[in-house]
Amino acid sequence: MLNDADQTFPEIREAVRRLCARFPGPYWRALDRERAYPTEFVAALTEAGFLSVLIPEDYGGSGLGLSAGAAVLEEIHRSGGNGGACHAQMYTMGVVLRYGSPAQKAAYLPKVASGELRLQAFGVTEPDAGTDTTRITTFARREGEAYVVNGKKLWISRAEHSDLMVLLCRTAPRAEAAKPSDGMSVLLVDMRQAVGNGLTIRPVRTMLNHATTELFFEDLKVPVANLIGQEGQGFRYILDGMNAERILIAAECIGDAKFFIDRASAYAKAREVFGRPIGQNQGVQFPIARAYVQMTAANLMVEHAAALFEAGRPCGTEANMAKLTASEASWCAADMALQTHGGFGFAEDYDIERKFRETRLYQVAPISTNLILSHVATHVLELPKSF
Ligand SMILES: Cc1cc2nc3c(=O)[nH]c(=O)nc-3n(C[C@H](O)[C@H](O)[C@H](O)COP(=O)(O)OP(=O)(O)OC[C@H]3O[C@@H](n4cnc5c(N)ncnc54)[C@H](O)[C@@H]3O)c2cc1C
Repeated sequence: MLNDADQTFPEIREAVRRLCARFPGPYWRALDRERAYPTEFVAALTEAGFLSVLIPEDYGGSGLGLSAGAAVLEEIHRSGGNGGACHAQMYTMGVVLRYGSPAQKAAYLPKVASGELRLQAFGVTEPDAGTDTTRITTFARREGEAYVVNGKKLWISRAEHSDLMVLLCRTAPRAEAAKPSDGMSVLLVDMRQAVGNGLTIRPVRTMLNHATTELFFEDLKVPVANLIGQEGQGFRYILDGMNAERILIAAECIGDAKFFIDRASAYAKAREVFGRPIGQNQGVQFPIARAYVQMTAANLMVEHAAALFEAGRPCGTEANMAKLTASEASWCAADMALQTHGGFGFAEDYDIERKFRETRLYQVAPISTNLILSHVATHVLELPKSF
């Protein structure tokens, strides 16, 4: 095991570890085979209050900062589990908390905090608009006291396991808006009423167990009362949430990297080839040590970005850099762990191949590595823009 002496939130981490011990490898492997949702795990986390750590105490949460949420997710991933099934319950509410009306906050946040309402679907990406969000075309047309929504979304995770969804859609065509990022709005969609009444959900099977889906909107009516903030300003509202998401997912990558390093170190000490432990060979030791160095450096970046977020300071660049360094550290650690395990790394029973598939996602979602590099190149280094 790694040296954890200086870790943040030791009590929270210990409690999360204890909870995760009830959901060991065989639990996740069985779900992975069926691409099934970890209902019992999510219920246990909800009951223990770990998904409401970021909700202010006034609304029934623990009122802790982002780094507490990061500690929870890191430990879930380090244990061999996966927070992807529920991490959005922690941060999707942020758009309601920051930009919702007092009535919306009072109506939703206490129920999200208790777990009575699952607010963990975040609908942004479309088949023809991934990275370039301003190209979304899902449109909400106002008719009296309702918006009528038409369009399509893709890769919307946990839609089947959510009572509410934060939906980004156009309320003015891109061509008519002053700026491409104007004319988008955020609607809170009640999935319980929407499904079958203008919203169809189709699951998309992927290389990892992620409960992701495609959504089809055909004249779905959403009450105007469910508009968050001002019409046309939605893009701005979701940006804060995206920073939180990137930092928390970076923490999951740190957890993954620690999982791989723990497992590889233990295996390299135990596995004997040519009459000695494979870990005695520097050719095996050094990749493990390098993975540890990369993870430790990335972790500092994650802590820095989380501290800026908590202080209410601009952190877009740092959130992106945390996500990039952490996702690369977890991927290098995954590759190292597979190599260290030799043929056994490919066997399902060791959990290495499953976690290997799972951690690969983070270089594409929620934002791809190239787009982060482009942000740093043009916004920080002031190199000429390529798009
Ligand atoms: C399992 C999964 C779950 C997801 N969950 C959600 C969710 O819950 N909600 C949601 O809204 N979205 C979700 N997404 C979508 C995710 O955020 C997008 O896949 C991601 O933002 C990339 O968009 P894209 O797939 O359209 O890639 P594209 O935008 O088509 O890009 C394809 C590739 O080209 C590269 N590229 C594009 N333009 C440039 C450029 N100018 N310069 C250099 N490289 C470039 C990109 O880096 C990428 O590698 C999920 C995706 C997956 C796979």
